[in-house]
Amino acid sequence: MAKALNLNSYVSREITCSCGHKHYSSVKRIDIDKDAVKRLPTHIKELGYTKPFIVADINTWKAAGEAAAAELEKAGIEYGKVVLDYEEVVPDETVIGEILVAVTPGTDLILGVGSGTLNDLCKLISFRMGLDYIIYATAPSMDGFVSIGSALMLHHVKTTVDCHGPVAVIGDTEVLANAPMRLIAAGLGDTLGKYTCLLDWKMSRMINQEYYCEEVVDMVRTAISTVMEYSKKVQERDPEAIKAVTEALVLTGIAMSFVGNSRPASGCEHHFSHFWEMRALMHGKTPALHGTQVGVGTIVALKLYHMLAEENVDFDAAKAKVFDYNSWLENVRRCYEIAADGIIAVEKASQKNDIAQRDIRIACMKENWPLIQKTIKEDLPATEEMEALLASLDAPITPAAINVDEEEVKDCVVYAKEVRPRFTVLQMLWDLGLSEEYGSRMVEYFKK
Ligand SMILES: [Zn+2]
Ligand SMILES: [Zn+2]
Repeated sequence: MAKALNLNSYVSREITCSCGHKHYSSVKRIDIDKDAVKRLPTHIKELGYTKPFIVADINTWKAAGEAAAAELEKAGIEYGKVVLDYEEVVPDETVIGEILVAVTPGTDLILGVGSGTLNDLCKLISFRMGLDYIIYATAPSMDGFVSIGSALMLHHVKTTVDCHGPVAVIGDTEVLANAPMRLIAAGLGDTLGKYTCLLDWKMSRMINQEYYCEEVVDMVRTAISTVMEYSKKVQERDPEAIKAVTEALVLTGIAMSFVGNSRPASGCEHHFSHFWEMRALMHGKTPALHGTQVGVGTIVALKLYHMLAEENVDFDAAKAKVFDYNSWLENVRRCYEIAADGIIAVEKASQKNDIAQRDIRIACMKENWPLIQKTIKEDLPATEEMEALLASLDAPITPAAINVDEEEVKDCVVYAKEVRPRFTVLQMLWDLGLSEEYGSRMVEYFKK
């Protein structure tokens, strides 16, 4: 029996938390286990639906949809379906329209069969139609199963639209374990990123007085350690190991809904991913999978943190440094090109580079420096250990392997922090006047 994360203890109820907030997730049921496909009709019936509409693509239909539909038939549940005939589905207006046209009258539930893209599409369609949706997961590739945001390609621009989450996440470990290894590896990459994002959050509490919830952090930490226990078995496609990865991804999604934003699941390793993805799309390149990028981003983030843990910081020199806004502006325009105006607006609203605020943070870091260095060493695994783990699944572990060049490596250390008004180690480096130097050191690190 796999060590259970007991996901159902977090759903269907409001949790009054020691952080002073009430936490709630709209998910009603999670079943990620052996033979889950056989329980699918029961879940649908017990949740009160009578006429589901299946949305799949040719790959997920073959891998899981067909068997799921057979179970519905056996149980006497009438259903409609659309099987999108693309090797790689792009979640754009055409595909959205195609699904809408196909939906059978009388449908009272959208049943998505797939992972990232299918989940995003079903989230939007069901939300727009005023219906609930269940995701029948086919690959543990990312942590967006229960998030409310749907990542779409509208007017050729990557856009996130706020919708709603699924009422249930169902995953049959046989199906999940047979997913393409690059998708499983991406899911592991997204999970490993939680090490650095949780530390970013902790640093922000210490240096930036940000809200922090110990219990949510514990949830996500438990998810990572369960995955780490099974990590050696992921490459063997061991169903228990795959169950651990999938549950960790679902659980971090619940953690996000608990705090109402992506803080528990996304730190600087995600800023790198967003930065690289935007650059790839601007230059007509296909970006690597989200989790694959996050895996590489995690390697960069771990290295930066470990370097900082050994740094002998000159706090007075940091404070004496002036912020040259015009040079910053020029570089933001160079890095972000057509997206630069949006990035500049983020800074205008958040003022994260305001010098008076920076000086307060420098003073705080100076006072707590030994504690900060100790915390980094305690909370993070060795960079080499995570590199070896990703490499064991043939996942990329260098920026070059995902088509990110040296200039983009240096730039991401200095400028990726501008994508979100969120405090991470990148802001610490900027505050301490170390961004440029660390950017160059990262380029050197990946040269060897
Ligand atoms: Zn809490
Ligand atoms: Zn992610």
